Amino acid sequence: MTVRVRFAPSPTGYLHVGGLRTALYNYLFARKHGGVFLLRIEDTDRNRYVEGAIENLIESLRWCGLDFDEGPGAEGDVGPYIQSERLEMYQRFAQQLLDNDQAYYAFDTAEELAEMRTRQEQAKVPSVHYERDTMRNSLNHSAEQVQQWMDEGQPYVVRLKIPDQDVFKMHDLVRGDIEFKREHVDDQILLKSDGFPTYHLASVVDDHHMGITHIIRGEEWLSSVPRHLVMYNYFGWEVPKMVHLPLLLNKDKSKLSKRQNDVAVEDYRTKGYLPEALVNFVALLGWNPGDNREEFTMDELVDAFSVERINKSGAVFELDKLKWFNKRKVHELSVSELTAQARPALEEAGFDLPSDETLERIVGLLQERLTLSNEVATLGSYFFQDPEEYDPKAVKKRWKADSSDLAREFADTLEGLESFDAASIEAALNAFAEEREMKAGPMFVVARLSVSGMSGGPDLFPMMEVIGQEACARRLRLAADRLQKD
Ligand code: GLU
Repeated sequence: MTVRVRFAPSPTGYLHVGGLRTALYNYLFARKHGGVFLLRIEDTDRNRYVEGAIENLIESLRWCGLDFDEGPGAEGDVGPYIQSERLEMYQRFAQQLLDNDQAYYAFDTAEELAEMRTRQEQAKVPSVHYERDTMRNSLNHSAEQVQQWMDEGQPYVVRLKIPDQDVFKMHDLVRGDIEFKREHVDDQILLKSDGFPTYHLASVVDDHHMGITHIIRGEEWLSSVPRHLVMYNYFGWEVPKMVHLPLLLNKDKSKLSKRQNDVAVEDYRTKGYLPEALVNFVALLGWNPGDNREEFTMDELVDAFSVERINKSGAVFELDKLKWFNKRKVHELSVSELTAQARPALEEAGFDLPSDETLERIVGLLQERLTLSNEVATLGSYFFQDPEEYDPKAVKKRWKADSSDLAREFADTLEGLESFDAASIEAALNAFAEEREMKAGPMFVVARLSVSGMSGGPDLFPMMEVIGQEACARRLRLAADRLQKD
């Protein structure tokens, strides 16, 4: 049997890193078993509709290298893959349950339900439940009454009739056998008053009709499983195998939240993280290869991945670890790939960019100093514009009373050079220092500070070569004026 798995996000406007992890594990599982990875958009909650959210999601998945085999824009045999385009089907299956006395109509207003809840809370029942007996529904009212309410246009929902049994049992491939007590299983709403299905009905109907063999999703959905099992049973459908992934946690072990971390994949993208690093990092949040390997390409992940090695306990999201991965991947990339990654930030910064060839040389000079691709635009801003500031510590300690004069004279020297390559600049600087019977070291400092504003950076002479003769001379004079000490 071909493995078929799905990533089924609700389009909230961005791809959450937790969603990325779910998508990734599904993807790896599918690739590992030669199966199909499907994207299904669960957009039946109309209140949460966000313009452009689907495109955004797909773009983020693509950026991470998670290509789906079936989904919006990649139609297979079991589409459409957007739930709002499948409403008729959910209504049909809700009707089937109604006809078989496995679901019922309920007319209760929000106020009536709130009263019921208060009543139960006051009575300290173990968990709040829909009360079939006391509320307004087709189980405890006559068909005529129900028809009358409908004719009057009273809004209603369809609820699942959970059977009377003490426990509901399921098997999770990672967590093993799990039992849910009856008191924790409510008569779930299946169809809302706007005719849209809830997540529960839609996902069960779709998982079945899309031939899903394995459901891999976040732990927060575990408590929904008993209601789903009831539906599978009523419909007479086989239950897919299930895996629930551990929670992602902040450093303080609370549930991963926006307040403590960026949670959108696109935030990491704009900050200069590489997809390879994010994927590698996220892969290890809740799974381990069983040995001490940490660095993986996507292909290596496919190879190493197994459901058995998914952890049960929550995984802490450590940004420093992600940075470490990013640094490693930034250093591994070819210069042209890194240049492509850095380009959007450079454009965003509004720099006048040099030729592609020069840009690649710049990126090549900076590469080993970068953690994020975007740092080409920040740490390396002096490659594109005259420095606006000078490292104050270095200025205080190392820009001496005679440094400004030296800078001006060295500017003249540089302008006199016939060839402005690294070797000539180096020779010129050494000769300049020698003529003045000074060490080359302090001249290095004057040149570096003037040209870049920084006290550290890539090798000075290749850097000056790329920045160019005219700009170097200009910057030396600019610094001389700005930093003049009496
Ligand atoms: N739409 C749900 C979500 O947003 C999907 C849950 C599931 O995978 O069943 O995560």
